[in-house]
Amino acid sequence: MKKIVIVGGGIAGLSAGVFAQMNGFDSVILEKNSVVGGECTGWDRQGYHIDGCIHWLIGTKKGTPIHDLWTTVGALGNVEVHNHESFLTFEHEGTQVHLYRDLDRLRSSWLEISPEDADAIEEFCKTIKQLHSFEIPVGKPMDMMNIIEKVKFMLSMKDAGMVMRKYGKITSTDYANTFKHPALRGALGTFVPDRGYSASSILFALGNFTKGQAGVPAGGSRAMALRMKDRYLSLGGTVKTASEVVELDIANEKVQSATCKNGETYEADFFIVACDAHMFFNRLLKGNYPVPEFEQRFGNPEDYPLASEVRIAFGYAGTMNDYPRTLRFPVAAPFRVGATGVEHLLMTHYGYEPDFAPEGHTAISFSINQFHSDYEAWSALDRQAYQEEKARIGNEVIREMETRFPEMRGKLKLLDVATPKTFERYCNAYRGAFMAFIPTVTGKPMTHTGQIKGLDNLHFSGQWVQPPGGLPVALITGHDTIIRLCKQEKQQFVRH
Ligand SMILES: Cc1cc2nc3c(=O)[nH]c(=O)nc-3n(C[C@H](O)[C@H](O)[C@H](O)COP(=O)(O)OP(=O)(O)OC[C@H]3O[C@@H](n4cnc5c(N)ncnc54)[C@H](O)[C@@H]3O)c2cc1C
Repeated sequence: MKKIVIVGGGIAGLSAGVFAQMNGFDSVILEKNSVVGGECTGWDRQGYHIDGCIHWLIGTKKGTPIHDLWTTVGALGNVEVHNHESFLTFEHEGTQVHLYRDLDRLRSSWLEISPEDADAIEEFCKTIKQLHSFEIPVGKPMDMMNIIEKVKFMLSMKDAGMVMRKYGKITSTDYANTFKHPALRGALGTFVPDRGYSASSILFALGNFTKGQAGVPAGGSRAMALRMKDRYLSLGGTVKTASEVVELDIANEKVQSATCKNGETYEADFFIVACDAHMFFNRLLKGNYPVPEFEQRFGNPEDYPLASEVRIAFGYAGTMNDYPRTLRFPVAAPFRVGATGVEHLLMTHYGYEPDFAPEGHTAISFSINQFHSDYEAWSALDRQAYQEEKARIGNEVIREMETRFPEMRGKLKLLDVATPKTFERYCNAYRGAFMAFIPTVTGKPMTHTGQIKGLDNLHFSGQWVQPPGGLPVALITGHDTIIRLCKQEKQQFVRH
């Protein structure tokens, strides 16, 4: 039995592990933290559970290829999937704009808000509907397809291709500004950060959501990762937690072994690295195997911004069944987070998850986008100033919540403030970036095979090797890496 060492027990590492075991390899996952899941995680504070990841999981619609793949790796188990009524609700001067899952309802509610935008709304809904035919491909990597498979693939991407051609080079902000009503402009203009991201990211997200392909599995992110771990263990895999790899021993164009911070060394026939790209190229490979596509992107944060966030969690002594699940509302008094001025807050409550809070209480979290200069601002703080800054931000958000929701006064408890430095510390995420390069209209999407020239038995996997990143890409690339390994070993790949 050939041995594989997998560095990183995030979703990509777990996916690679499951398919490695299914294909007769003997694998071990080395994970830095005490729990698997990587960015797909959650943590407990003062009787509440803070979910750290899934707002939407592409692949929750039964009978679709990506749903089958999630099922195969044990991610979905038999748990219920929450298909929320609305993706988010945006508030502007007393008007609420809902991004409903029911597209007809979305259309009619928007027309009611702004009859003068009828043409733009029709076009918007038509485009979202057109994307219902799009399914994220999960068969095999494009570069391994034969000509017939490639033709079939291209045909299956026809509608998505048309939308990309039309909207791929328009920024989300410019697209939002084609609407006349300020509330609709605001809802679309703040859907993704104003960083030159393409309008297509709004349309693809809503295409998936309105076709029921982007729900949230009950129990949330940590529970999903733990189900994948159980699946992996049931296939005979081994997980070593608290095992941060600090050294790859390379000789004769091969990785010979991986050594962990705890002093343990693992030899294997193959090594799969499924962690942060910067960590991989610069710390594990010590900059000796540069890949120009990555170098160019890391060196150009304007065209390839790396997104992180500040995540603020509260416990609320009350129920929130009548509140929108995710609400973006304007703040009464703008404040600064990192280097960014905050004018809106994005609040998500977990009232639909009774186990996330004591009875009669609700877990709430806020996400504030952070980029390059924010990371610099956080990094400049010493330990005490960092703690004080987190407390200040917690208080600013409480003040805004109590202003917007007077009924919450005195009933909110600050549970936690995670910053880009938290993501960096927890997952070795470069500059706190938990998503790979999201292409802007001036950047180019990149797909990489994960094979490194000059190192035969090493494969790089995970969200960094394929756009647009996120959980489905972590799943798919883990799977694809084992397809590549099977090809290398001249054996048939199996998926069960
Ligand atoms: C707040 C937040 C919200 C998100 N929301 C969504 C969402 O709604 N939908 C969606 O699709 N995606 C979402 N994402 C993105 C998604 O979580 C990631 O794209 C995905 O989890 C990446 O998986 P990965 O396995 O490629 O990488 P990671 O999760 O980064 O896993 C890498 C693993 O490697 C470990 N590691 C790092 N260095 C080493 C080392 N030297 N040795 C051993 N182990 C190491 C890390 O600890 C980690 O466990 C969100 C992310 C965050 C943080």
